[in-house]
Amino acid sequence: MENIQELNEKIAQYERREKQLEQIEARLRMAIDSTQLGTWEYYPLTGELNWSEECKKIYGVPDGAKITFEAFAKHIYSADNDVVQKAIQKAMEPGGDNHYNITYRITRFDDNSLRWIRAQGKVYFDPAGQVESFIGTVVDITETKLAFEKLARSEKLFKSIAVNIPNSIIIVIDTQCRILAIEGDVMEKMGFDSKNYEGKHLSETGPRERYEATKHLYERVLKGERFSDERTAANGEIYTVHFIPLKTEDGDVEAGLIIALDITDIKQAEERSAKLAAIVESSDDAIISKTFDSIVTSWNNSAQRTFGYTAEEMIGQSILKLIPEDRLEEEPQIIARLKKGERVEHFETKRVTKDGRLLDVSLTISPIKDTQGKVIGVSKIARDITEKKQEETRKNDFIAMVSHELKTPLTSMKSYVQVLLAKEKKDGDSFKINALTRADVQAKKMTSMIQDFLSLARLEDGKITINKEVFDLQPLAEEIINDAKILTSIQSIQLEHAADVRIYADRDKIGQVLTNLVSNAIKYSPKGGNITVGCERINDGKVIIYVSDEGVGINNEDQKKLFDRFYRVRNEKVKTISGFGIGLYLVSEILKYHNSKIEVESEEGKGSRFYFILETV
Ligand code: ADP
Repeated sequence: MENIQELNEKIAQYERREKQLEQIEARLRMAIDSTQLGTWEYYPLTGELNWSEECKKIYGVPDGAKITFEAFAKHIYSADNDVVQKAIQKAMEPGGDNHYNITYRITRFDDNSLRWIRAQGKVYFDPAGQVESFIGTVVDITETKLAFEKLARSEKLFKSIAVNIPNSIIIVIDTQCRILAIEGDVMEKMGFDSKNYEGKHLSETGPRERYEATKHLYERVLKGERFSDERTAANGEIYTVHFIPLKTEDGDVEAGLIIALDITDIKQAEERSAKLAAIVESSDDAIISKTFDSIVTSWNNSAQRTFGYTAEEMIGQSILKLIPEDRLEEEPQIIARLKKGERVEHFETKRVTKDGRLLDVSLTISPIKDTQGKVIGVSKIARDITEKKQEETRKNDFIAMVSHELKTPLTSMKSYVQVLLAKEKKDGDSFKINALTRADVQAKKMTSMIQDFLSLARLEDGKITINKEVFDLQPLAEEIINDAKILTSIQSIQLEHAADVRIYADRDKIGQVLTNLVSNAIKYSPKGGNITVGCERINDGKVIIYVSDEGVGINNEDQKKLFDRFYRVRNEKVKTISGFGIGLYLVSEILKYHNSKIEVESEEGKGSRFYFILETV
């Protein structure tokens, strides 16, 4: 009896357990179903393979089709086949951990489409150590995988955009001020690896004080405000920083985008151009820039003062407005020179003002080049020299008048001296002859000085005239040398190779040239030495005419300026020698009128040789 009762109780207990197990299994199944997990069982000994409904759905198995291991193996994507087989072998090795966890691709049974699968399982052994069953789950992870790939692609894209924006750092922060992403070529330049920053709170990326000082900016962007700020880094670099809130579709801020652009170079360039602009604006000269089509692009205060037009009236207009009609051809000539990259310096010309006045201006025009050196425009500095010109004219008029007035009494003085000299030569008083000869030469010297002044005044007025004739060089040179000899006792002056040289030129003016060169040779040889005047025939019926001395010589720097008007060398050796600095200027100008040019070869302390070329007949 007791036994039956015990038995009944045990049966009831089993029944309860079975019910409990059924419930557990039902719950498990529901749980599995809700996760879209497929389950499978494989019995290697018998080859039996069972797939759950979800598993069949994943593989796209048609209704009623029989599942075999071969069929399963056939639908592994060929490239992944090896990996899967190896993983199965490994799981079934006795003594291993017998787990199976693998991601691979399949081709579905129904439409052969490619899917990503994640399979997990475990191998069970019987007491004899034989594989009994291999049980596991499978899930389709194609969508997740694609989403990951897409994310990885976006991340890569973000990185490459960020790295390729020049001089930038781009940071994305979450609402807790943690760095989600940080990139930029500035980071790379500084040798920072973005991986060391990602995930960190902004306060952990540098000194705490810096975070505290900038905290309010992050708070503003995370509150949804979009703004920009200019900040200077500890190393002096200047950044313009854009703060941009990133919002969800509902308008909630989910992240903050911070774009910092290094604008140090731009700032410095701005400062430089501001300084230049200030200089240009405060200049007394008119400073104008224009295109090659003569359209004005900038116009400073002084340009307005000089020409009367405001910047508004001139910018965008043609510069031709300023050029008098009879000088319009100047502009294309200047442009042509500039296009070749040349500069035009101190070009004296005339320009018209807004109210029609004619101004004398001195123009310095240079090409404007871009950073690649390409000529992109023209800058023009115009100086109003009207007053200077008037002053010069007044001075010239004065010099001309004085020289002219001096010439008449001097000529009559010279005649009296010559008459007396002729008389004395007959009477034979050597002292008187000597004294009168010297008086005659000094009068000639004065005449030649006055002649120089008159020539200078005429030259400035453009009134110089050249009267060419054929003459022999030798008698002219002898005349000049003889006069000079009377004045000097320490120099020997000789004439060489001048016989039979016939020249076609202005005899008086060439005489003036030689007089100036010979008197300089004497003047600048205070210790004596040989002076030679001579000729050398060269090709094409031309001669080089030279005057050389063994005097103080001229250094290279002074040689370049020697022929400028009023230029005089200033050094110890010549400081006591008097002069006006117009002799060589006249020499140079007279020779220009003969299509020739004065040249000099000289060495300090050794002497000089001045020479020029003329045509013979
Ligand atoms: P000036 O002699 O009146 O000063 P010039 O125009 O004739 O003016 O000459 C200009 C300068 O050239 C002189 O001041 C002088 O220093 C220098 N010079 C001219 N000729 C010679 C020379 N033969 N030797 C050395 N220096 C010379």
